[in-house]
Amino acid sequence: MNAIRLKAAALLVLVLVSFLAALPGIGHAKSAEAAESQASTISGWEIQWIGEDAPIEQSPSLTEPWHASNAKDPLIAIPEGSRGAWVHLTIPPTSDWSVPGLLIKQIYGLDLSVYENSRLIYHSERDFSFDRNVLLFALEKSSQPEDLYIRIESLDRAGPVRAAQIGEFNQLSESFTRGELPSILLGAAIAFLALLMLLISGYLDAQQRRAWITLSLIALTSSVLILTYSTLTFVIFKDFGSLLLFLFDSSMLVFFPALHFYVASVFDEIKPFYLKFGKWFAGYSAFCFVILILNEWMGDSFFFYYKLFTFWLLAPMILIHLVLVVSQSIAHSFRGNRDSLIVSLGLLSLAVAGIMDLMMIYTSETVPVFYRWKFGIVLLILALVIVLARKISSGHHKLIAYSRELELHNHQLQRTEKLKFVSELAASVAHEVRNPLQVTRGFLQLISSTSDQKNRDHFSMAINELDRASLIISDFLTFAKPELDTIAELNIHEELTIVETIMSPLAAINGAVFRMKVPENLLILGNPSKFKQAFMNLLKNSIEALNEDGIIEVEAAVENEKVLIRISDNGEGMDEEQIVRLGEPYYSTKSKGTGLGLMVTFRIIEVMKGTLEFRSVKGKGTEAFIRFPLVKAD
Ligand code: ADP
Ligand code: MG
Repeated sequence: MNAIRLKAAALLVLVLVSFLAALPGIGHAKSAEAAESQASTISGWEIQWIGEDAPIEQSPSLTEPWHASNAKDPLIAIPEGSRGAWVHLTIPPTSDWSVPGLLIKQIYGLDLSVYENSRLIYHSERDFSFDRNVLLFALEKSSQPEDLYIRIESLDRAGPVRAAQIGEFNQLSESFTRGELPSILLGAAIAFLALLMLLISGYLDAQQRRAWITLSLIALTSSVLILTYSTLTFVIFKDFGSLLLFLFDSSMLVFFPALHFYVASVFDEIKPFYLKFGKWFAGYSAFCFVILILNEWMGDSFFFYYKLFTFWLLAPMILIHLVLVVSQSIAHSFRGNRDSLIVSLGLLSLAVAGIMDLMMIYTSETVPVFYRWKFGIVLLILALVIVLARKISSGHHKLIAYSRELELHNHQLQRTEKLKFVSELAASVAHEVRNPLQVTRGFLQLISSTSDQKNRDHFSMAINELDRASLIISDFLTFAKPELDTIAELNIHEELTIVETIMSPLAAINGAVFRMKVPENLLILGNPSKFKQAFMNLLKNSIEALNEDGIIEVEAAVENEKVLIRISDNGEGMDEEQIVRLGEPYYSTKSKGTGLGLMVTFRIIEVMKGTLEFRSVKGKGTEAFIRFPLVKAD
């Protein structure tokens, strides 16, 4: 869980950093300000409306009235019966700059012509109905104030909404580009992400693919929205203006139905009203699409209907839609898991940002430029990326856990196979071999007593080896016939004390200390000699694993109706591969080991209805946990 959180946090930081990196405006803010401080601003001007049937002239009418306008409260709504406006600006002396220029970052109008002393110095035209425009051109140097007249032809809005800046032409154009660049980069980044997501969708199953493709559509359309909302795009791709506008409008018509579909698919408890509204909304979007195409086809004469359906009627519907998304998100963030909480928050930030933007239509006097929705989109995509990363990482963990389980299972299977074979072999051979061994041992002892010292040493070695062989055989026999001949109530404390006494000499030789902490009242069912054999094997292994200052702890306690015995040592420890192989016949890492001790121990504990588990850290030590059913704790 923590690892996932860490990864998500790292991802968040990464995305945030790249987002900030995409805002070069921040880094350059100082120099841009410096450039602008040298520039002078003109925040007041005059407007004269151009009548619908007035001829196209080079200069404003001498009889029509002028209306004062300014950047704070600009006059832009073209009155009935007019088709554009003249704007009159007074330019201060410009001899301070090597190439003076003028920049109006935001001006409404389709065709713009600028006259200085009745001479045309700048002209731009648009054959599409996107009226948010920029004005940027070089001026002639002059040592006294000059009058500048801008003729604007437009549909329903005309005139500047931001102060005009006069300054060094190069710096002005740089500052305009820099201001728009973050949006372009952001849009491009999201477009790239969307395409990647579409590519990935090929790897998903049908059910996931639908939500995923919806998501890609959301990302793709939002990138188009961001890119085509910037005036810089229209400046760069001057000739494709009507296409850009069409892309913007149709992206908006896809974006909201896709958002609706996505919300309906991620949240499981959806109000029927929301679903109904969604259907209705999708239908209306399709209708608007037809309007778009008609507008393309019929041109400006259709503009009124275009604007009515795709803006004035669409905006309140989008508002209602976003309010519904907010309510669904809030309702949902109280239920559901963490993933849906994250998605809820992302949707919430998009919806709130969108609502705040749209509210500006109704609250501000002038038609505003929306910008908050871009942050909303970034936050939504961020949330989706986090959820995706969480899904991937949890899938990865599951895969690892599964493959581990598979490996363990495989080992167990192998062990059972081997055990079966060994036990059959053991049963047939062990019994036959033990008797001759005993007889041989007896004779060897007899002869040894009559021999000289040198031979006696040899005989004693031979006898020792015979003892070892017979021990192995008894291990085999225990294994082959683990049935408990006599079952009795065993007092754990008594039994373990005896085992400790037996093993103490071996421990002392190896410099080890036993620490016993076993309550006196724990009883289990079992065979005393098999019990002792099992624990002797375990303690022997611990002793053999020890280095200097070895400590072996033996503790017992009651846990969930079971007796839990824990044997721990601070010896050489084992890695996971070793632990998995414990109990496998002949598995030993010791030069003189048989690899039968634990095989027998496992078998004995199993027959006594107990379990044996190991936990170990290489270089630190090993813990063995043995659990038996508890009989009584007086
Ligand atoms: P043997 O003791 O003859 O090697 P066992 O079946 O008793 O055979 O043990 C198998 C192997 O398990 C040992 O060789 C050793 O590598 C490992 N082992 C068992 N217990 C421990 C322990 N307490 N500490 C470290 N390794 C152990
Ligand atoms: Mg052993």
